[in-house]
Amino acid sequence: MSNFIVGLTGGIGSGKSTVAELFAARGAELVDTDAIAHELTAAGGAAMPALLAAFGPAMADRDGALDRAAMRRTVFADPGARQRLEDILHPLIRQISSARCRAAVSPYVILAVPLLVESGTYRQRCQRIVVVDCPEKLQIERVMARSGISRAEVEAIMATQATRAQRLAAADDVVSNDGDLTNLYRQVDKLDLEYLRLSSEIAKANH
Ligand code: ADP
Repeated sequence: MSNFIVGLTGGIGSGKSTVAELFAARGAELVDTDAIAHELTAAGGAAMPALLAAFGPAMADRDGALDRAAMRRTVFADPGARQRLEDILHPLIRQISSARCRAAVSPYVILAVPLLVESGTYRQRCQRIVVVDCPEKLQIERVMARSGISRAEVEAIMATQATRAQRLAAADDVVSNDGDLTNLYRQVDKLDLEYLRLSSEIAKANH
């Protein structure tokens, strides 16, 4: 069991997934709440029966997976619907991510949570918080290039997230993702060594 959980977060488009993969490539097990949400809402996913019961069978696509576009439209128009969606998904995500962190055997685990700073329960689970940070302008450009959504849509999502300053205030460590990938590798290499050191100290203290 791994006793050292590093919570990784950042605003949309900051580079969280990219940085999470870099830690994973260096041997850390990755528990990603976004990926768990996708698993739960894929065809045959554990949340699908409850979601279809709550929102109707039209919310599934032809394969039986959640129709994300339809769901997005529904929750955008109706805050009550967003609450019902979260009431179904969030307990499952908390439960599965916690079980996976417990089952991990790497010296430290990266727990990637987009809204970590906004959520007390996830913050409490982490021994350390690393924030992927970049200027808002770059965030917007990256998301527009990745998803083909409009600037206004990216800004609307950013408005629902913690501010850059709030995230930085919660950070133990910061990865600055305003340069090229080589620059990112260097920062992750340094933090990887630091987390290996910290986790081995904790393991020794617990012995
Ligand atoms: P997040 O998971 O925080 O939403 P991603 O890791 O998916 O962000 O990054 C957003 C987009 O920007 C992706 O298409 C990714 O490949 C790209 N990207 C991230 N970091 C860099 C970088 N340093 N240089 C160039 N492109 C990057």
